[in-house]
Amino acid sequence: MVGIIPLVLLEVIFVNVTENAVISTRMRNISAQFSVISTYFANSLSDDEDAMDSEMASIAEDIAGIISSRIQIIDRNFTIITDTYQINRGKLCITEDVNKCFNGTNSTYTDEQSECIVMTQAIRDSETDEIIYVMFATTSISDIYSAMDNVKLIGVAVIVIMAIIVIFFAIFGSYILTKPFGVITKTISRVDLGHLEEKIDLKGASEVEDISAAFNKLLDRINQLEQSRQEFVSNVSHELKTPLTSMKVLADSLIMQEDVPAEMYREFMIDLSSEIDRGNAIIQDLLALVKMDATDVEMNIAAVNINDILEATLKVVRPQAEQKDVEMIMESLRPVVAEVDEVKFSMAVMNLVENAVKYNNPEGWVHVSLNADQTYFYIKIQDNGIGIPEDSVDHIFDRFYRVDKSRSRASGGTGLGLAITKKIILAHKGQIKVHSEEGIGTTFSIQVPLTYVV
Ligand code: ADP
Repeated sequence: MVGIIPLVLLEVIFVNVTENAVISTRMRNISAQFSVISTYFANSLSDDEDAMDSEMASIAEDIAGIISSRIQIIDRNFTIITDTYQINRGKLCITEDVNKCFNGTNSTYTDEQSECIVMTQAIRDSETDEIIYVMFATTSISDIYSAMDNVKLIGVAVIVIMAIIVIFFAIFGSYILTKPFGVITKTISRVDLGHLEEKIDLKGASEVEDISAAFNKLLDRINQLEQSRQEFVSNVSHELKTPLTSMKVLADSLIMQEDVPAEMYREFMIDLSSEIDRGNAIIQDLLALVKMDATDVEMNIAAVNINDILEATLKVVRPQAEQKDVEMIMESLRPVVAEVDEVKFSMAVMNLVENAVKYNNPEGWVHVSLNADQTYFYIKIQDNGIGIPEDSVDHIFDRFYRVDKSRSRASGGTGLGLAITKKIILAHKGQIKVHSEEGIGTTFSIQVPLTYVV
């Protein structure tokens, strides 16, 4: 429709404009011709008034033949003295146009019904300039109308041909355009049924290829998420299975032995209790991680003194440090008050400080520093402990990742601490970086905005 309507409008406008232009040119020509003819009439008449009418008739006959028009001459009594068609001669012709013409106003117009140009032209006495006759002439323009009918016919034919071409291209084009969407819809339905391995391979317009590439990227991301979900579930099961297996072994060995000494019972019970603590720690860390994983993590933001948080953390960890003979130093360059979730932020700092002690050597040190500028506050937790191997540095924030499983487990680690810490720092719109050298030590640097940004 969008293609055809302008064509029809174009045809109508073109035919009308052309028709009007041709007719008005013809009118101008005829008007000029009759003006000349009227002068010729006036000059050709003799002075003999009685002979004038018959002279007029014969001149009119001659001219009408030449210019293929019908000429009627009307005298001042409104009597038709000459009619080149010989029909109205002697009859009266009292019309407005004739009357106006006797009063000096010539007229020219088109009569569409009879397909003629009608005109009245005054014939003046060459000496007195008085209007003595009115020439009433009609010239057929049916040739113009029939020529325009032909043009219209050709136009209609062109429109029909164009319409067929437009419809063909519209159907063909819409098929080509909508085909890729059909493929995409089909693939989405299959993915919806669980076939995540599906891929779209569409070739064609660059937009189609872009959609296809974006869809495949999205699928890759879904697959990655699905894979990490599966890994997470398998890690959780594995981690929880370990303390449960130990508990089972301890309990079974007690059951199988008869007359177990009370001392041994006590020893086994202590081991059982520590395995239960381990299971508990894993579950608690998992719950914290799941909470931080939620899309809308609930943050209880308040202005908190960060120096106080660090002091409190160091106070809690100090006994473990003393046990390992690790020195803890705190350096606060300025008092810092920032908008944070106190419980979560304390947990993040606690994980880092605990790690710095856990993965340290006897007689080592842990250095915690706090600084701030106009926008951010910065915490550095530095130790001269065992360090992290280069190939592990990129993974330490992954869930359940531990460089040395047995060492981590022995010190009560779940492999979730740093994953939780990173999530907490990101929830504060901050960032955490690590720099470590094996055998030399590790530094964790945190940067967090002083004002919480939603
Ligand atoms: P874990 O519960 O095992 O401590 P984390 O997520 O807290 O788990 O840490 C992940 C791993 O990163 C640890 O197992 C340890 O190997 C390594 N790591 C973390 N902090 C330090 C540190 N300060 N020095 C050396 N290694 C560290």
